[in-house]
Order: sequence, then C-alpha cells, then structure tokens
Amino acid sequence: MTSRIKTVDARELFDTRGLPTIEVEVVLADGSRGSFMAPGGSSRGSNEAFDLRDGDPAYFDGLGVAKAIGAAKGEIAAALAGMDAADQGAVDEALIRLDGTPNKSRLGGNTIIATSAAVAKAAACSRGVDLREYLGGGTEIPVSLVIVMFGGPVHVGVAGTADFQEYALYDLSARDPRDGFARTSRIFGRLREYVSKKQGAGVPRLAGVAGWLSARFDTNEEALTVLTDLVREAGYEPGKDIGLYIDVAATHLYRDGKYHLSAEHQALSRDAWIDRLEYLCDRYPLIVGMEDCLDEEDWDGWRLLTERLGRRVQLVGDDFFVTDPARLRRGIETGCANAVVIKPNQIGTLTEALQTVDLAKAHGYGTVLSLRSGQGFDPLMAHLCVGRCLGQAKMVEAPSGTAHLDEVLRIQDALGEAAIHKRRGVLPCLLA
Ligand code: PGA
Ligand code: ZN
Repeated sequence: MTSRIKTVDARELFDTRGLPTIEVEVVLADGSRGSFMAPGGSSRGSNEAFDLRDGDPAYFDGLGVAKAIGAAKGEIAAALAGMDAADQGAVDEALIRLDGTPNKSRLGGNTIIATSAAVAKAAACSRGVDLREYLGGGTEIPVSLVIVMFGGPVHVGVAGTADFQEYALYDLSARDPRDGFARTSRIFGRLREYVSKKQGAGVPRLAGVAGWLSARFDTNEEALTVLTDLVREAGYEPGKDIGLYIDVAATHLYRDGKYHLSAEHQALSRDAWIDRLEYLCDRYPLIVGMEDCLDEEDWDGWRLLTERLGRRVQLVGDDFFVTDPARLRRGIETGCANAVVIKPNQIGTLTEALQTVDLAKAHGYGTVLSLRSGQGFDPLMAHLCVGRCLGQAKMVEAPSGTAHLDEVLRIQDALGEAAIHKRRGVLPCLLA
C-alpha cells in the first residue's frame, strides 16, 4: 500500500501573531507529503480542544510547543506508522484513543489537529487529487465575509471602543467573491475615511497590521448607523445587497451573570440583553448574521434568542459549539442557533470537524468556515470550504489578509462552469 504512513515529524514555527505553533509533517511510503500548522486563536472558547503549551515563562510567556513536538515525534509517530493515510477516520480514531482524554489535553488539540490535517494532505497528494476533491468534491463557492472593523475586549481591549468583536460585510448579491470583495472593499474605504475624519489620530488600531480598523463610538448603535449609511451611500440596499455579520463574542462580555458593554458603561441582564439584540435587528436590517450572541454556556438564553430571531437572522455558534458534533447535536435538539462556525482546530481532528459540518447540513443549519486570528495561509481551509459546500467563509480582513480568498478564487477559476454560487441562499433563515 503506497499511502502507508512512513514518518511523522514536527517543528516549531510562528503564527501570524508571531507566537510559536507546531507544524506536523507526514510522509507516506510513496513519498507523498503533507504538513499543517496548528492555528492559534486569541478569543478561545473554554470547551475547545486543549492547546498544549510548555508553560516556561522565559520563552514566549509559556507558549512554547516543545511538549507538543515531543508528542508528535514520539507517541504519535509510533502509533501512526504503517497506518493507511487514506483512512482518515481510522487515523483520527487512533489519535483520539491514544490521547485518551475528553478534551485532547494529554497530547494537545494543537498537536492532534496538525497531525490529522497533515495526514489528509499527504493522502490527497498520494491519490493525485486536489484537497477540494479529497475533502468531499463539492463545487460550492462560499459567500465571503470581509471583516471591516474590530472591537471588544479580546481583540482590541480599548475601553469605549465598539463592544462587538468583529464587524464583517457579506456581499449577498455579488456575481462571485471577487466581485463581492471589490464591493465590500469600497465600503471599507469609506469607513476608514469616516473614522479618520471623525476621530483623527485617536483611532485605536490593532498592532502589527496596517489597515486593521477599530473605532470609538458613543454607543454600539452608532457603529451600526454609520455602517448602514455607508452601505446606502455606496448604492447598495442594506440587508439585501450587502449584509452585516457581527461576531458579538458575548462570552467575553459576560461576567457575574451580566453582559457588560464598555462603550455604553452598562451591564445588562440576560433578558435585557436579548431584548437589546432583537431591537438592534429590528432597527438595522443591515444585520443578517450574528455569531456568539450569548455566553458559551447560556443554553437557555440561546434557545430564547433563537425563538425570537432565528427565522430572520442567522444565529451562529462559535465558542458555543466549538465545532463539536456533540454540542451541535444538543443545540439542534434544544432549538439553539441556526448555524455553526467551523474551525477544525477547536475540536482537534478533521473527522470530527467534518461530522459537525454534515450534522449541520442534515438539519438545515448554516455553516461558516472561519480562520483563527493567528492562522497563516494554508490551502486546506479554502478547499474544505468549497469541497464540503460550507457556503460561507470568514477568511478576509480588509484590506490585508486575502490569501485564503485568493485560494477560493483559484478554485473557482479552475472549476469554471461547474462552480456553484448560492449567494443569499446560504442563509439558513427566511431572509434567504
Ligand atoms: P480567535 O477568534 O481570535 O480565537 O481566532 C475569532 C472568533 O471569535 O471568531
Ligand atoms: Zn467568534
């Protein structure tokens, strides 16, 4: 068998935040290779697969990955040697069994996802097909979400800045994501102009990447008014041509039983918070999707919110579902949310991430592929999105960071007439 796993190697590299991460490289008997870097996130849910770090404060504040590398080169390499890389299910099962903990804390979720994805890439290479084909063979080009502004305590952390973590624009009527990116970029340009005119040099920018934008607003509503006006001024109908997708990241606003809004110096009870979210959706038809509106363990709140808004707004679980088929199943059974973020590293194996995708699709839940904030380019994410027909991808930060979108466009161009575009049809609610 040529797709037999011969070696598993690992090394330390640095993610886009400049922090250490593990890359695993798998080589098969026929010489095919695959490698994958575990992506790092800053706004992590507490139910995610465990991120194994060394804890030595003298080295990157404890974030070294020597232990993870040791696990990959040692136990994992020994366990996988001789296994068929083309049997992803068996490989991932072996990794889960070898780890033996509920949250992959012994070998590390980072070690395991890097291995799992590297095996898939090597297997695709051995079969001589591209990753899109290997991961499902679908041809659905996603609607691309373009993040135009950041806020909130984790990614910006400046008091008085808009409280929601990310504001992304979707072009729901564009011909394709290339056209969509051109249109959303125009709105981003106008937003940047507006913010610098109004707030001048005082505008907080995220460190490192020129162009990332965050802004001070007196209220969170003001941000929504500004975005709605800019969409209209650019000649688009809010909520029809262009929609707004907000990652509220409410887990990080929630403490002591209340949702804390720093922009407004307010703390709201769950009921008042749900009323507020409903009010915002009524008042701003630009909003078509919201991620993590409630705390990651507030199941009753999620159910109430879904009853109130689930038929007209896409309500997406990120920290809430952590790409875990078991949590998604519970959400489906109890009427929570109508869509799920897919971040394979949250759950730790490709097989489990694909189970989450398939479960969501079987129950009419939307699926939004999402990068981690520290994730460098790897073709796997775009190919997974198209090949498994996820429909939506949050993988662009305007105006930088288009590498993953570029890969989607390469796939689209290669598919030619076979490429499918669902546009508004990707939303799992009546808006579609
Ligand atoms: P991350 O979060 O920083 O953990 O990648 C982004 C998100 O919440 O979607
Ligand atoms: Zn999120």
